[in-house]
Amino acid sequence: VAEVRDLTKRFGERTVLKGLNLTVARGEFVALLGRSGSGKSTLLRVLAGLDGAVEGHADVTGTVSVAFQQPRLLPWRKVWHNVVLGLHQDGVAKSRNRALAAKALAEVQLAERADAWPLTLSGGEAQRVSLARALVREPDLLLLDEPFGALDALTRLAMHRLVADLWRRHRPGVLLVTHDVDEALRLADRVLVLDGGRIVAAHRPREAAVLDDVRRRVLADLGVT
Ligand code: ATP
Ligand code: MG
Repeated sequence: VAEVRDLTKRFGERTVLKGLNLTVARGEFVALLGRSGSGKSTLLRVLAGLDGAVEGHADVTGTVSVAFQQPRLLPWRKVWHNVVLGLHQDGVAKSRNRALAAKALAEVQLAERADAWPLTLSGGEAQRVSLARALVREPDLLLLDEPFGALDALTRLAMHRLVADLWRRHRPGVLLVTHDVDEALRLADRVLVLDGGRIVAAHRPREAAVLDDVRRRVLADLGVT
């Protein structure tokens, strides 16, 4: 669903992505790790088609949903309305919006906040609304930018289960950006490390005999010893 070849992205004098190569196949769950400022969000923006000025190729097929690092909710639309904003592009009848929003909000444990205004939400609630909005479209490619960062440990585990279930049912390609190595190892087929504008390491935790060994290698690639 996503193929990136020799992608270079500059901001003025700064080159953030330097000839990056990456593919995400349909049904594949890929996690992306990397230091703060390494270009993870930039890569997701390019894949979402929000940053056209690049060199190289970034080809994406099918519907794409993004849950941004900073949840972008329209403050003048109620929570449920924010969840279904993208659906008209997919040809979903307006009459189904309310029910689809209710179901998605229940999945992220926010059923009772459907009629709230976005500005009254906590940070973790806003993140989950953003996640519900991404999931409700049942996209071919799901881009998640640190979607669980503001959540407590229990809610985070519930959201892991939700994303993993959805992935098993619909088999989208998933690209999950996270700083949590254990989260990456638990959820993903492939764990990639972005550094110096390129993918510098790739691990397949599900194939590894010993998860601890993979964790050690990932941490070593991140420069943590
Ligand atoms: P974090 O883990 O902190 O979210 P990240 O890996 O997502 O970091 P990016 O947001 O992709 O990092 O940013 C990569 C680099 O590009 C940073 O140094 C950032 O300052 C720079 N950058 C991002 N967007 C712009 C922009 N619009 N103009 C100029 N520089 C930018
Ligand atoms: Mg980021």
